[in-house]
Amino acid sequence: TDAYLARIEKAKPLNAFITTTADKARDMAKASDTKLAKGEGGDLEGVPLGIKDLFCTEGVLTTAASHILDGFTPRYESTVTSNLWRDGAVCLGKLNLDEFAMGSSNETSFYGNVINPWRREGDDTALTPGGSSGGSSAAVAARLCAAATATDTGGSIRQPASLTNTVGVKPTYGRVSRWGIVAFASSLDQAGPVAQDVRDAAVMLKSMAGPDPKDSTCINRPVPDYEAVLGQSLKGMKIGVPKEYRLDGMPEEIEKLWAQGIDWMKDAGCEIVDISLPMTKYALPVYYIVAPAEASSNLARYDGVKYGHRAKDYTDILSMYENTRAEGFGDEVKRRILIGTYVLSAGYYDAYYLRAQKVRKKIFDEFTDAFSKVDLILTPSTPSAAFALGEKSDDPVQMYLNDVFTVTGNLAGLPGASVPAGYDKQGLPLGLQLLARPFDEETMFKGMYAIE
Ligand code: GLN
Repeated sequence: TDAYLARIEKAKPLNAFITTTADKARDMAKASDTKLAKGEGGDLEGVPLGIKDLFCTEGVLTTAASHILDGFTPRYESTVTSNLWRDGAVCLGKLNLDEFAMGSSNETSFYGNVINPWRREGDDTALTPGGSSGGSSAAVAARLCAAATATDTGGSIRQPASLTNTVGVKPTYGRVSRWGIVAFASSLDQAGPVAQDVRDAAVMLKSMAGPDPKDSTCINRPVPDYEAVLGQSLKGMKIGVPKEYRLDGMPEEIEKLWAQGIDWMKDAGCEIVDISLPMTKYALPVYYIVAPAEASSNLARYDGVKYGHRAKDYTDILSMYENTRAEGFGDEVKRRILIGTYVLSAGYYDAYYLRAQKVRKKIFDEFTDAFSKVDLILTPSTPSAAFALGEKSDDPVQMYLNDVFTVTGNLAGLPGASVPAGYDKQGLPLGLQLLARPFDEETMFKGMYAIE
């Protein structure tokens, strides 16, 4: 714990942490030492973790990287973090993210962008660690924590993992409790780990997951031992390769990496099956209707009364709400609220929101059909390697295109993971994505281990 705290101090310029909890970490580590000395302790006893600052932590400032949550210190602990502490993990602090997890580069954070510890060969340009879980991915990549929690609404675990050479797992919707996690889009949000390797991710997910009476969408199923399946044979497994994920103008390196992944799967004894998912082209538009719609509703609670920031200047309660929200939310969050309220408004609901939900169901059906023929689907995680800070921040549509391979998994509620698989010409890491049947994370972990 002391070694990690020292590294965090040194790596301040990366801006990965919003809050560090050094005293708490040392106390937790001491308690773990005592347990370990007696031969006791959980699966994560004494393991120092970073927590995305979207998870409520009792007595520890929780910001969601938003000005509107200034000074918000929860009096309760999220289920995920409670599970981790139950198993002995140590809390190093709270990690930076895009404001309310809206973004793909960590540049929408009120606390400033995070810098990717990776650089292009011979080029000092600062790159994004991806987003929204940019603090999580940068911290794990720079070894500022042994592993981190993250959340994935449209790719925010898998894309940052891909851009930083780390492993990121988005479990099936309902595998992990959302209780105590600041809500973005409730029908898409899932928490999962970012870790240094597949085994660490397996141990982390086992601790994070499990039934929770406090979240009615969290399923009542026992959590398998994901670590136990690592190294098991993939012989005879069928791997789907969807042609619609081959995008025009996709960098050659991504194509190559994908082909490499296919070869690795063949070498492991898998059968490769060409599949077609024609609804893929609607995934981004559907996501950018459904996610803002849910966000606009979830964010209605930030009104200056219950949490965090309240405007100083106002004349009546309405102007208090208005000024608080005008000051408290950043541009991207306001954009989502505008889009969300628009697509939900009378007259537009049928044309946008309802239609998007219908297409979402079709995307789900298409995956269900594909998974009657294959066990896993293999795709690239991202359409490009890490890009420069500022490169896409003025163009929301360019930014949204980052999520093209990942949003489908959220819309269909499927488990998905990104595993480091290679490098581009400039030495930047690239990941491959595996998607699996609902609640079949075990098969996904087997495949991930073969790629790693
Ligand atoms: N980049 C996507 C968005 O901005 C996904 C974010 C996420 O998964 N939290 O909505």
